[in-house]
This record gives sequence, structure tokens and C-alpha cells, in this order.
Amino acid sequence: MKSRVAHPSWIEVDLGQFRKNIGLVREHIGKALYCLPVKANAYGHGLKEIGREAEAAGVDYLGVAHLQEGIELRDAGVKIPILVLGAIHEDQVDELIEHRLEFSISSKMKADFVARRCQGKCRVHLEVDTGMHRTGVRSSTAIELMRHLRDLKVFDVVGIYSHFATSGDAFSQKQMESFQTLLEEPIFKEQQLIRHIANSSGIMHFRELDMVRPSLITFGYGQLGVAPCFTLKSKVSYFKVVEKGEGISYGHTYVTKKKTRIVTVPIGYGDGYRRALSNRGHVLIRGKRYPIAGTICMDQFMVDVGDDAIFVGDEVVLIGKQVSEEILLTEIAELCQTIPYEILCQFNSRLPRVYL
Ligand SMILES: *Cc1c(COP(=O)(O)O)cnc(C)c1O
Repeated sequence: MKSRVAHPSWIEVDLGQFRKNIGLVREHIGKALYCLPVKANAYGHGLKEIGREAEAAGVDYLGVAHLQEGIELRDAGVKIPILVLGAIHEDQVDELIEHRLEFSISSKMKADFVARRCQGKCRVHLEVDTGMHRTGVRSSTAIELMRHLRDLKVFDVVGIYSHFATSGDAFSQKQMESFQTLLEEPIFKEQQLIRHIANSSGIMHFRELDMVRPSLITFGYGQLGVAPCFTLKSKVSYFKVVEKGEGISYGHTYVTKKKTRIVTVPIGYGDGYRRALSNRGHVLIRGKRYPIAGTICMDQFMVDVGDDAIFVGDEVVLIGKQVSEEILLTEIAELCQTIPYEILCQFNSRLPRVYL
């Protein structure tokens, strides 16, 4: 599925690598069901394409944050179960059912409004808060809510789940234990529920329950031999020679130390390439690292290439590999004082996704 790139900057997604990652995670999780959360445009990789590819590669479930993401996947022809992880609103119930989306029930109030609107059966997962304190019913009231769901008849409770607040430490151990203690209650053992809690970090630290929800590692960030399938690219759009002592870009925060060549790269914070990388980040051109010179503008920024012969049209790699050099996602995230997740999801629709 190669498409021609007319836009000066784009994201390449290597679907072959994505499939390899799925295979590696699959091997690790054994018999557990594989739910791939694809929220936030599949961590920036493209919701529809990743959803379809994951389905084709044998992933069992997709996870989304909101109704709209689930509808997009159904419209893209995805048939496997989709679980809406985020809390739902009353006015979404009809569409959730219409699009065969499974969703989370995390309070009696939500159960009641669903029951009022739902004709037929709704497939739901009971969400339990074991320490994240975001959404989910407290463990202590989970039994009561489960009874209530059974009484209401419209619910087909297919799963029960929780979510870790931390990564492989004593607290996540505590969460795991309190979840397992709850699961020992007869009401949760009487019927076969899909029990799930682990995200990417969770699958590295805990034995699988019935299902896992590892996303970041499926996109290639983590252990198990996975590799990223995401490369951010652009092409040099302009070139000039600048004398010693000249300021570059808004505010002249970069001043040339000698006569040098400055090239322009047509991507900026308007695409999601963070301004925090001004004078700090690097890019790859012709297999070599060069520093960003001056502040990043909305649509472009400059790079100091010294005396090197770089030409208009040369490919620029901003995240990913070029020849034997690599700019890691973690390097960009650290420079921006954030986590890799945030960097991946912030690239917007101005950047076309190209699938290899
Ligand atoms: C996003 C999300 C995940 C996936 O987390 P990773 O750290 O990317 O594996 C799992 N579960 C829930 C509820 C999520 O919101």
C-alpha cells in the first residue's frame, strides 16, 4: 500500500515490522487474548490502517478511548471485538450498540442509563479501580455492581479489568494482588469472564490473566526484540550560505560561529514537531547528525550543516534510522521533557502516513 508523497514531510510506518512486533508479543503472552489499544490515532501511526493490519495479523481485540475511534474502525471494516476503555456518556449508548462496540461499566449510574436505553444485549467489561484512581468502580463495591448488572438483564458482562498506575514496582504488585483477590469472589468465578490488567510494562512483570493490553511495545518500544515501525521524515526545502555572526530564525537565538551552510526543513510545531527542540534537537541528513539552528517555526526550521554538501531534496530523518545513525524517540522525548507516548500522539493530520 504505497502512496505517493506530495507533502514535504511525512511519517513512514513499516507494517512488516509492526507485524513482527505483534508476533514477538504474541509469543511472550502465550495463550492470553491480545487486545491492542489503538487510541489517539494508534499512537500516531494511523487508526484505520493499524486497526486493519492488527486484525489481519491475528490480534483478538482492539481498545479505543472513545466512541468515535470505535466507529472509525468499524467504518474501516474492522470486524474483531473493540473495547471502548474510556468512560461513556448517556448520549453515546445508541451508537455504541449500533456499531457493536464493547464498553466499560464503571459505576451504577452508568449501568442504569445504559439499561434505560439499551434494547437487546450490551457486551460490557466491568472496570475496577485498584489504585489508578481514574475510572473504575472501587474493589469494595465491584461485587455489588456485578450483581446489579446481572439483575438488569440487558448486560452481557464479558470481562472484568483494571489498569496499573505504576510500572513494575511494589505498588503495581499491590494492585495485581488486590485485583486477584477480587477475582476469587464467587460472583466473578461463576461465569467465564475475560480478566485483564496488563499494559506493555505489565506484561513484562506479571503472568498473563485471560487478556493483555500492550500497546507501546507493539509499536516497537520495549523489550522482547521489538523495533519501532515509525519514522518521521522530511526533505530539505532550501539552502543558503550564511556569514559568521549572523542570527538564525525568530529571536536570533542561534548565532553562527563561522561562515556556514544553513538548510531549511519544512516541518514545524504546526505539524507537532515540538518547539522545545529549538537549538537542542538533531536531524539526520545523508547519514549524519546535524544540530537544529534557532527556534522551530510553525512550518519549518533550520539546520546548520557546516561545510557539508547538502542539497535541496535530500531526505531528512527526524525520528528513526538513516544509514547507520538513529534518532531515538526517547531522545526526542527527553529533550521535550516528556514521555515517548506524548511525542507519538502529537503529530497531526498535516503529516501523511505512508505505509510500507
Ligand atoms: C493506553 C492503554 C493501554 C496501553 O498502554 P501501553 O503502556 O501503551 O501498553 C492499556 N490499557 C489501558 C486502559 C489504556 O488506556
